[in-house]
Amino acid sequence: MIMVMSPGVTEKEIEEVEKQLKGFGWSVHRSRGEKSFILRVSGEYGDDVGTAIRSIPYIDKVINVSHPFELASRAYQPEKTVFEVGGVEIGGRKVVVIAGPCAVEGRGSYLLTAEAVKRGGADVLRGGAYKPRSSPYSFQGLQEEGLKILAEARSMTGLPVVTEVLDRRSVEIVAAYADILQVGSRNMQNFVLLKELGQVGKPVLIKRGLSATIEEWLMAAEYILSEGNEKVILCERGIRTFETYTRNTLDLSAVPIARELSHLPVFVDPSHGTGRWRCVSPMCMAAIAAGADGLLVEVHSSPKEALCDGPQSLLPGKFSQMMDSLKKVAEIIGRNL
Ligand code: PEP
Ligand code: MN
Repeated sequence: MIMVMSPGVTEKEIEEVEKQLKGFGWSVHRSRGEKSFILRVSGEYGDDVGTAIRSIPYIDKVINVSHPFELASRAYQPEKTVFEVGGVEIGGRKVVVIAGPCAVEGRGSYLLTAEAVKRGGADVLRGGAYKPRSSPYSFQGLQEEGLKILAEARSMTGLPVVTEVLDRRSVEIVAAYADILQVGSRNMQNFVLLKELGQVGKPVLIKRGLSATIEEWLMAAEYILSEGNEKVILCERGIRTFETYTRNTLDLSAVPIARELSHLPVFVDPSHGTGRWRCVSPMCMAAIAAGADGLLVEVHSSPKEALCDGPQSLLPGKFSQMMDSLKKVAEIIGRNL
């Protein structure tokens, strides 16, 4: 059962409610969000649960959890989640474009690419400082040095930055530099990490796991929401199938489905979704047509020399060209870019 209190509830009132709930033999977990204060209650409810609940003060709403992703569901919140980060509105009419290289490889190259994607119309910068590589011998990222370069790029361009957080230990340092924290595909079900991210005061972009169902993806988002962080972005990035021509199979049907099931903003990453730069522009157009609230696109000034994901990275010039086509698609469906 979830009990929703107003965000302005005082510590004394919460303690009073907790005491009463514990008196019924129930256990209570609290989480404070910006829009509401939530108590997750569990235990044996018994037949007189209705009377028990009615006796508890300061509660705005009681929800009998019937859904594995209750807080993420449209039933819980019919209107779309819209929030702002670094002057960019996420989940609104504008399709938000995140762009930048797979990894921050060095200061000079990153700042040049950041300027170029800004000129091309990007709203948010990306770049991995901590990289989840399939081989331990591949480039693992510049770590804190990479975070500092991202922060410099933000000051230079005025654009917010998103970067991946790999484990619980690095949440604090990544949150100190980044505007949005990314959970990569490989970590989608790292529940310990998700719970930790539920307690940072920054938005989280959660990629769909390589082999995750839509329901599993939404339940992963629920972990973050249920700890009090209401700013979660879902990101479809392709799933593993029998197809080998593309790196992954971009599941665009996940966009209307996730938007129907959940109020959370849904982004699409056609770079990882296809692994081929030539597929990125057509899939971005299709993603907008399918209702995506945002796109995540890898851009590199010299893809052949990229330390990771070169084959799926657009040159800055191609990125700008693509943005012109995307504007037209967005207009047709009543959105803008
Ligand atoms: C990335 O965004 O560079 C990345 C590693 O993504 P994913 O987790 O989708 O593979
Ligand atoms: Mn990448």
